[in-house]
Amino acid sequence: MKLTIHRGTNQIGGCITEIESGGYKIFIDFGEQLPGTENKALQPIGGLTCDDVSKSALFITHYHGDHIGKICDTVADLPIYAGKTALEIFNCLERRLSHIPDPNEAEKHKRIVERIKSINTFEQLNQIKVGEIVVTPLLIDHSAFDAYMFIVEADNQRILHTGDFRGHGFRSKGLIPTLKSYAKNIDYIISEGSNILRPNATMQSEQELQKDFEMQFRKNKYNFILVSSTNIDRIFALYHASKKAKRCFVCDSYQTDILKIVSENHKQYTTFYDINYEQTTSSVGRFFDLKRQGKNPFSFNGNLKPFLDKNGFCMLIRSSDAFKSLLDEYAKSNDSKIYYSMWNGYLDSNKPAFNESLYNFLEPYKIEYKHTSGHADLETLKIVFETVKPKCGIIPIHTEAPEKFQDLFHEQTSIIPLRDGDVYDCNIKRINHD
Ligand SMILES: [Zn+2]
Ligand SMILES: [Zn+2]
Repeated sequence: MKLTIHRGTNQIGGCITEIESGGYKIFIDFGEQLPGTENKALQPIGGLTCDDVSKSALFITHYHGDHIGKICDTVADLPIYAGKTALEIFNCLERRLSHIPDPNEAEKHKRIVERIKSINTFEQLNQIKVGEIVVTPLLIDHSAFDAYMFIVEADNQRILHTGDFRGHGFRSKGLIPTLKSYAKNIDYIISEGSNILRPNATMQSEQELQKDFEMQFRKNKYNFILVSSTNIDRIFALYHASKKAKRCFVCDSYQTDILKIVSENHKQYTTFYDINYEQTTSSVGRFFDLKRQGKNPFSFNGNLKPFLDKNGFCMLIRSSDAFKSLLDEYAKSNDSKIYYSMWNGYLDSNKPAFNESLYNFLEPYKIEYKHTSGHADLETLKIVFETVKPKCGIIPIHTEAPEKFQDLFHEQTSIIPLRDGDVYDCNIKRINHD
């Protein structure tokens, strides 16, 4: 078995992993580099972007753009596999993006929508065989819904690829039991390390954050939250927080469509995803799907305005002019609050991922930062490595500081410092620098 990290040994985002055995190849993730990262030209990759693909397949850990965004650069008949609910959410997002005004961007998203039609789906523990390689998806918690780790098995070797994951989300309590049950006899872990240089990124769990929001919603009548439309568990937590605080929950139809996908597929497992979308009584804690009239900005029309003014609300917004007039109207009130519930790096002009239009959108307002990371903290990484105890070592990816793995985790196992494009031969345990 041979293993190559084509990209992502020293950056967060754009990771591509290849595992080859007996002439068959599987690839894990094929996404965009993060905005602002130095653009590394990618050489053609046989079995993924060129040559014969009859003996290969691409597996997607989750729908974040840095893991799935480049699927249109694959050879057209390469089989791609992704989580079932994840793919439905991604399809909904991409359909919306295919209508944005920039024609080049819209075209790109239209191509993605086309490619999605041929993607195969799996659910947790569905084993998929590519020649002699067997891939088993393990459901884990991340800021993307329906995200997976993969166990890849061939040639008497077993690799655990972590994808992006964390230990402080709503569904994280399953992490260690899942690993204990399924990630046995692992030889190598290919692990993400996004938070290696961000020790404070996970000060709160998602549960604590939800309580915090509930307290805020009780105190403040008019609440606006800027949150990623696909950070599903955060949004359901906001819904429950607003309901408990007896505020109404308001979001637009696109966001409602995304939430409905999750409810339909998952409400039978937990009431957390069970929202009464059609409730018509004028009770507090109601869900409102705010319809937009053509290209007009969002507004509270007719009876809705006095109802929301009286009972208060929690409204999800995005940095679009469509939300601006509502924000301007309510921001003047002492009863209003605007929360920013995404990574603060997008608002930091010193960071390469600085998003100027987002910054300018929020600039006129006083905002409160309320967020917790989608990635594992150091303690969680350590517990995972101690639980899995890989026999041969850990290969760091999805991190700006792979060298820190050596300082932090050398007691758990040996660290194998690969560079982009190195081929690691698992049988003879040697790196081949091409
Ligand atoms: Zn990622
Ligand atoms: Zn991610």
